[in-house]
Amino acid sequence: MNVYDARRMADVLAPLGYAHVETPEDADLIILNTCHIREKAAEKVYSELGRLRQLKGDREDGGDPMMIGVAGCVAQAEGTEMLRRAPYVDLVFGPQTYHRLPEMIARALRAAGETSGPGRGVIDTEFPVESKFDSLPQAVETGPSAFLTVQEGCDRFCAFCVVPYTRGAEYSRPAEDVLAEARRLVEAGAREITLLGQNVNAYHGAAPSGGEWRLAALLEALADIDGLDRIRYTTSHPRDMTADLIEAHGRIGKLMPFLHLPVQSGSDQVLAAMNRQHRVEDYLRIIDQLREQRPDLALSSDFIVGHPGETEEDFEATLALVRQVGYAQAYSFKYSLRPGTPASVMKDAVPDGEKSDRLARLQSLLKDQQQAFNDSFAGLTVPVLLDRRGRGDAQLAGRTPWMQAVHVDFEASSQADAAYGRTVSVRILSAHPNSLAAKPNEVTASTQEAAAV
Ligand code: SAH
Ligand code: SF4
Repeated sequence: MNVYDARRMADVLAPLGYAHVETPEDADLIILNTCHIREKAAEKVYSELGRLRQLKGDREDGGDPMMIGVAGCVAQAEGTEMLRRAPYVDLVFGPQTYHRLPEMIARALRAAGETSGPGRGVIDTEFPVESKFDSLPQAVETGPSAFLTVQEGCDRFCAFCVVPYTRGAEYSRPAEDVLAEARRLVEAGAREITLLGQNVNAYHGAAPSGGEWRLAALLEALADIDGLDRIRYTTSHPRDMTADLIEAHGRIGKLMPFLHLPVQSGSDQVLAAMNRQHRVEDYLRIIDQLREQRPDLALSSDFIVGHPGETEEDFEATLALVRQVGYAQAYSFKYSLRPGTPASVMKDAVPDGEKSDRLARLQSLLKDQQQAFNDSFAGLTVPVLLDRRGRGDAQLAGRTPWMQAVHVDFEASSQADAAYGRTVSVRILSAHPNSLAAKPNEVTASTQEAAAV
């Protein structure tokens, strides 16, 4: 979501004459787009700001002004505190106000002309009534694989999570807007679109002809767009995995057979403390129903270890759930206390050493599952959307339908050039923990044929 937001900030800034540069040294404006989900993320922002302060000082000593902005959820949560801790920062703004960047920059430039030193920074951490999506310029630039935010914020209030406080209340973009943006992305070369939302399957946007569409209806309409080959969505809450959405996985061929469905814990007691509003049994039933619809569905998840009150027995229940489901990949984290959340005042904190130990055990199991999943592809032929350049001129990288990263070695750079941005049939040569190595399925003299699916 931050990648999407950063792209949109660049779209807002383009008419002002700003363009990307390769190094911070060359920039007139540096924006750190930040995440506040875990404590480490916030600390990283301050240490990065410390480095930029030096750079800004050097630049300004030479009479060349440079602006520093902090965007995203750390900015939203810290607000004025950020200007106190880092008074050289010029702009502090949250995830819901970046459409106002031109105005903020003008104010910051005026302030810099009038005063210098602390107290001149511009802050905008409001949750405006108008949606930023209504004021953003059209998204135009894209690679073969694009992100598209359809839903933001969250009303679920899991006990450990800051998202409802930093991103704000849940909001779904009207379906017509989403479809128009998707069509533009496809015209600009996107072949895959990943719909984004903090809780994307809670999507309930205004339908084109009145009423509301849930995510399944939106997916159905997107699947009708010619030239769009692949659709994904992330990230989902088990409680919003409705019957129509589960069925969509069987019905919509363009919907890729990979789902990120975070469960956080395999213990009902911990799930209750987390306020996840479902039991382990409900999660497993959803997985069964999904696999009935789409037998080749691969799954990924998020896990938190060491939530307040988690016992060794609770943790072992998480390991048991992982063994039962079998994941293609997953993200796992030590519980991180977020001030202001209900979990932050819960008793029975788990000691850090214990959290580290549990994380290592969980990650070892998840790593084995990921390796086994990747190993099962050795020798197979799979379609890969080649959306990135690889090492050297003759290598491209992309993803399988099941989200594995693949490096494809072509015989010549001309073949690689012809295949870029296309879905190509490749043969998997070897499997690694985080990627697969492959060659085009049929290497022929004709690059056209080599690039054909
Ligand atoms: N909406 C998604 C999650 C978005 S946050 C869901 O409900 O599943 C992404 C992930 O960060 C979460 O799934 C969780 O595993 C992790 N996370 C969130 N808050 C955390 C915290 N306080 N400590 C550790 N991990 C956290
Ligand atoms: Fe956070 Fe996800 Fe829970 Fe919302 S549903 S509060 S984003 S963990």
